[in-house]
Amino acid sequence: MKASVETNTPWEPNMDETTLELGTDRTSMLDTQIDALAANAVALLQRLVKTNSVNPLFPGIRRNDVVGGETACGQLLSNYLGAFGFVSETVAPDPQRANTVLRKAGAGGGRSLFINGHVDTVAPFRPSEWIEGNPWSGAIRDGNLYGLGATDMKSGLVAAALAAAAIEAAGLRLKGELQIHAVVGEETMSHELGTTAVLEAGFGGDAAIVVEPTSQPRPLSVTSVSAGNFNLQIDVKGYGTHSGNRGPSIRAGGEGNAAGVNAVEKAILVLQALQLLEQEWGINKSHPAFPAGIFSMAPGVFHGDAGVPSVGYLAEAATIGYLVWYPPNEKPEDIQAEIERHVHHAAQLDSWLRHNPPVLRWESHWPVFDTPVDHPLVHSLVTDRADVLGALPEGVPQVHSFNAVCDAAFIAKKAIPVATMGPGDLRHAHAVNEFVRLSEIRDCARILARTMVRWCGVA
Ligand SMILES: [Zn+2]
Repeated sequence: MKASVETNTPWEPNMDETTLELGTDRTSMLDTQIDALAANAVALLQRLVKTNSVNPLFPGIRRNDVVGGETACGQLLSNYLGAFGFVSETVAPDPQRANTVLRKAGAGGGRSLFINGHVDTVAPFRPSEWIEGNPWSGAIRDGNLYGLGATDMKSGLVAAALAAAAIEAAGLRLKGELQIHAVVGEETMSHELGTTAVLEAGFGGDAAIVVEPTSQPRPLSVTSVSAGNFNLQIDVKGYGTHSGNRGPSIRAGGEGNAAGVNAVEKAILVLQALQLLEQEWGINKSHPAFPAGIFSMAPGVFHGDAGVPSVGYLAEAATIGYLVWYPPNEKPEDIQAEIERHVHHAAQLDSWLRHNPPVLRWESHWPVFDTPVDHPLVHSLVTDRADVLGALPEGVPQVHSFNAVCDAAFIAKKAIPVATMGPGDLRHAHAVNEFVRLSEIRDCARILARTMVRWCGVA
């Protein structure tokens, strides 16, 4: 089932879809091992958080200050899972930024699965305000672990490693191959250095789980869809003359455009036109997994420039920078065409813009992912989440949207079914005193271990 606007399909998985039975003996065996291994896993997370792995391409960061941190994180995970028989390989289009692939061959006859998580982080926000004055403290207080990457998303990788270790410790041999991909570059959309590079190197599987933080709206929500976005820059040209030409350029009896054209004001016409389109989108564009009005065009940057360092001129040029969020059930090229058409028509209404059309620059595109809610992988995660955390009340959606973007989009681009589920709350990601609840790591490992066994089968 593909969710669509027309049918207004209820956002519930089809529970008739069957997946392998797990059995309570196996689940209690797995839980026992997870409890036994949990303290070590928390120590691993502390080491990961204490390892500065800020993305070297993050704005304002000097590469040499941070490069190598991502590789070191992959090495820590490799050391941990090496003790449980996992083989480690690296994929490194940038030799100083290695992706680490941890793999355990299956006995044969089962479906393969991989877990994806990024080891890079953003740069710390207001570093002096963090607990212990240190964004990389790894401090534990009241059951929470603090530090950059605690939520986004080193804890997800640790939960996956803990689940994989518990399966081994419980003596279960999976039929299908299990891989964990600890990738670089997610925070700057450098997927060609990270997730995409790993997949194109031949790693992957029949399905994937991205362990990004999904503890919204409730802990460890299962999410199977995210919106796409564009970074759109619109350049508007003016005719920058001395500000003394303001009157003749805009007042009756003056020379009009021949005296000067202020690009800032022309850009505002474009901005207003797109506000109207955005209002239409609020009504016309919807998807059952998303709240109303989420599909939008947010102007985040507005820049006008005379071309010389002075305010004594009418602006020669102006640029508006947008983040455009569009629904998963529309094609990105249709969204681009719709916006371009709208700007074109708005420009026809103005004597200057008609002959000096705004230039649209599509700077980057983060595609959607949209796995059917009744896909067996999603069903398995929903079932296993209910087993670990209790069933959700009647009528509450079982599957949600991921309200950010992540590498799941680039996995879906390779036609691999993918869902996201992981510890941590997006509201604490990229924020001062980022933290994760340690109990969520254990619960996430319990869910992941069940789904790994259910999906891959046991020999
Ligand atoms: Zn992330």
